[in-house]
Amino acid sequence: MDTPKYKRVLIKISGEALAGDNKFGLNFDVIGPVCDVVKKCVEIGTEVGIVVGGGNFWRGVKDGGGKMERTRADYMGMLATTINSLALQDALEQRGVDVRVQTAIEMRQIAEPYIRNKATRHLEKGRVVIFGCGIGNPYFSTDTAAALRAAEINAEIILLAKNIDGVYDSDPAKNPDAKKYDTLSYMEVLEKKLAVMDTTATTLSMDNNIPLLVFALKEPENIYRAVMGEQVGTMVNN
Ligand code: UDP
Repeated sequence: MDTPKYKRVLIKISGEALAGDNKFGLNFDVIGPVCDVVKKCVEIGTEVGIVVGGGNFWRGVKDGGGKMERTRADYMGMLATTINSLALQDALEQRGVDVRVQTAIEMRQIAEPYIRNKATRHLEKGRVVIFGCGIGNPYFSTDTAAALRAAEINAEIILLAKNIDGVYDSDPAKNPDAKKYDTLSYMEVLEKKLAVMDTTATTLSMDNNIPLLVFALKEPENIYRAVMGEQVGTMVNN
């Protein structure tokens, strides 16, 4: 059996990545293969926490900005992350993986409330824990939730699965000469204002000394490779 490099990881999956080419909603042709790989990671003994975004349904500022009160628009975003959490839970359970969803805002009929010690106990028992509702507060992002939960559960690394295969010096969709970084420091990310995570999430990971690997979810096997210690995208560290 393969020996993973990491015993406990926090995977952040952006909502947009779950939508695949549709850009909106849930694409089960994307979710299925991702869950197959998560299962593989659990089977080799890696403990997996997942924070999922909500951008495939709603982003507070982008979709509600100017038309709605900001905090309400953000709560809608947090609800979107919960929809995604339940979809992932279902797909993982269909594959025989034990899963618990914990939400930062209580929704007892559909998920457990977030309780750190309970989350780590689940992880120790080999259950995947999906953290819904971000951190539970408006004005924050699910990237910040990933950084916070990773610190709380003592994850060794944040695996940031995105629609793009790493961190570039400029937007490769707009600039064909954009260069991809293999490694970066958190300080460089901040100084160069690189589009990795928002500043709050970046400084939180930096202060807590948690490495971050940014890679494309399009190839779900990347998650497994990352868990095995392969550098499949851009590594950000102190
Ligand atoms: N959100 C929030 N607080 C949090 C996490 C998320 O208010 O702790 C809201 C915010 O409106 C955000 C939306 O939920 O735009 C969806 O999250 P995010 O944009 O991080 O999703 P992603 O871009 O990763 O799909």
